[in-house]
Amino acid sequence: MTAKTQTVTQAQLDACLRCIDELTGEVFYRVNSATHVDVTYTVRSHKEFHVLSCTCPSMNPPVDEYGFFKYAPRVCWHCKASVAHSRQYSALKQAEREAATRLAHLVEMGLTEAEAKVALSHSLTVDGVPASDEELVRVYGPASRRPSDSEIRRMAKAYQPKAFSLLR
Ligand SMILES: [Zn+2]
Repeated sequence: MTAKTQTVTQAQLDACLRCIDELTGEVFYRVNSATHVDVTYTVRSHKEFHVLSCTCPSMNPPVDEYGFFKYAPRVCWHCKASVAHSRQYSALKQAEREAATRLAHLVEMGLTEAEAKVALSHSLTVDGVPASDEELVRVYGPASRRPSDSEIRRMAKAYQPKAFSLLR
């Protein structure tokens, strides 16, 4: 079973709570029922089988007196919303990691951590493209800690494409 996420609404995402089992480290979701107040269902991922399970009635039909399902189990929105939430969570964590790496780089280049945070909180663009770390250091660092002209020339040289000629 695969859960498509295109149809998930913001309200459904808001109903999802990401949880971690402290003993096993397993991530699972608690999802508020849309129809019953105070009811939450638990969505778990069974990676070895590539399936999700949910404790809601859609996925767990009641059985009749012969033990047959009264209706076929259906993929519920709790599963779809959990998958969508999990994807957004991963994307956010990835963005956070990238921001932390960039912050560390700016500090390495001479900004204080406070300056680097200010620099990264502005989506500064230079000539229509996002500012490079060198430009951020130049704009947000005090003059004394900005790269010297010789450093900038060296960096410019390091990033220059190698000259290439066929005439050799
Ligand atoms: Zn469900």
